[in-house]
Amino acid sequence: MPVDFNRLIEKHLHRESRPKRVGYYYPSEAGNCMRKSWYSYKYPQPLDPKKGKYFYLGNLLHDFIAEVIENPENTEVRLLEKEVSLKIPQPEFMISGRIDDIFVLTADGRKFILEVKSTGQSLGWMKSPQDAHVMQIQLYMHSHEVKEGVILYVDKNSLESRWFEVRYDPAVAEGVIARFAELDRLLKAERLPDPEARQRPEWAWMCKYCEYAQGFCVVNKS
Ligand code: SF4
Repeated sequence: MPVDFNRLIEKHLHRESRPKRVGYYYPSEAGNCMRKSWYSYKYPQPLDPKKGKYFYLGNLLHDFIAEVIENPENTEVRLLEKEVSLKIPQPEFMISGRIDDIFVLTADGRKFILEVKSTGQSLGWMKSPQDAHVMQIQLYMHSHEVKEGVILYVDKNSLESRWFEVRYDPAVAEGVIARFAELDRLLKAERLPDPEARQRPEWAWMCKYCEYAQGFCVVNKS
């Protein structure tokens, strides 16, 4: 075969990653291992082509859900906002970003936030949403003053879905903002955070996908 289509797709998806500025934090980072976020500011890495493909698939699925919601024949749920912007200014730093996996919707006269996540995991085994996704949706509900949320997981192999309702909890949202404050403090103090994902069994899966697992995040370094 004269053409390597894998390479062609990777070339098409390749984007230069822009370095992050300390003091400006992205809402999508809310539930990341704090050490990984810290490294991403200090030692930015080029995006792994495999991850680029995964993100692109996620965007395609997001567009598909937008199409489902915006179908004129859909009378069950109405779109109020998509590609939502978020800004949570704090005295020392700013949490802000445009979030394309979030929709603001109404159904039965109730307003809620929908967070769409593509997954390759078996939906049948899924008993609860991931901590990181709960943290993100709490932040979105907080900034948009919405009390109800739904995390929708869509199986990228079958388009089957499973969803979890999440009620706004100001304590959780404040906790997420406090995590950003801690990240900000440690970045400015040049101090490495604890390897959270290694320390919390339910977060251990993050290390498998972490570009800093080799060469940076050695077990005893703190
Ligand atoms: S390897 Fe694991 S603990 Fe270390 S930075 Fe990455 S996600 Fe965090």
